[in-house]
Amino acid sequence: MLVNMSLAFVAFYVVHMIGITVGYHRLLAHRAYKCNKIVEYVLVIAGYLGFESSPMWWATLHRAHHRYTETELDPHAPRFGLYRAYIGWFLHRNYPEHIRPELLSKDLVNDPLYKFLDQNGNWARGHLLNSFINFSLRGVMALVWGWEIAAASLAAALFVQQMPLLLNVVCHLPKAGYKNFNTRDESVNVGWVAFLTLGEGWHNNHHAFPGSARHGLKPSEIDPSWIIIRAMKALGWVTWMNEVSIDTPFKGLQGPLPPLTHEPTAEPIPLPQVPALVAATIASELSPLTPELVPVSVPSQTRHVVRTRLQSNRR
Ligand SMILES: [Zn+2]
Ligand SMILES: [Zn+2]
Repeated sequence: MLVNMSLAFVAFYVVHMIGITVGYHRLLAHRAYKCNKIVEYVLVIAGYLGFESSPMWWATLHRAHHRYTETELDPHAPRFGLYRAYIGWFLHRNYPEHIRPELLSKDLVNDPLYKFLDQNGNWARGHLLNSFINFSLRGVMALVWGWEIAAASLAAALFVQQMPLLLNVVCHLPKAGYKNFNTRDESVNVGWVAFLTLGEGWHNNHHAFPGSARHGLKPSEIDPSWIIIRAMKALGWVTWMNEVSIDTPFKGLQGPLPPLTHEPTAEPIPLPQVPALVAATIASELSPLTPELVPVSVPSQTRHVVRTRLQSNRR
């Protein structure tokens, strides 16, 4: 029984993890490759059933993380406090002004499935719906396949749910890993996180080239998610893929970080509400992240424009 449960746990873990890494992250949030809607939905549903909540919410928050990395507008930068970076950001009720899907996820807001799962931007309702569907599924699994398989599936899904939260913190702690690229942030590559997250732990590479479907760039940086995307391309399920190598020149922002605007604290810092005027300026300046508009190093350049505008507005 224990062997069967362990095998089921690993199998479910891999399925839900692929849903997050290949589906939520590299496809929805970054449009690093193209596939048809059926493949997209299968991947996204695999992530949704790993307690990953609304796909639109996830992609929008993640795009904000890349756009505002390590600034006070970043939803989960550890330099502003570990509690906030781990779970504090998650406990808000709805989207702050600068992280609205209409601003950052124009390519997702009209999708009927993502719209429904997002519950009109009400975070609590979106999370509750996700929990209800996830627990109900395991109830059905218990009736069909027995409690052992259902328990293994539930445990795997809850374990998977913790992985992006863990990564958000660990892969932005400079002492936890190493950098291949001198990005203007604290992102690092962390091998054990990459192992647990099927390649997502090569996070400094990812911040250098957010639009790349490939995150592990050195021979030692094994990236199972990229191998899966390559396999899907060989099968014709993926029609286009953005891919860099370790020799691709990094042209994004470099050098030291701007100084802290808050002292690190154990308490959550409320996300700032950006004045409507600034949000409107951002909206007029930024285009949606369509595949054509995600060349490898542009997001960090765009960040610079936004940061400059925000700073000039505060003065
Ligand atoms: Zn990051
Ligand atoms: Zn990302």
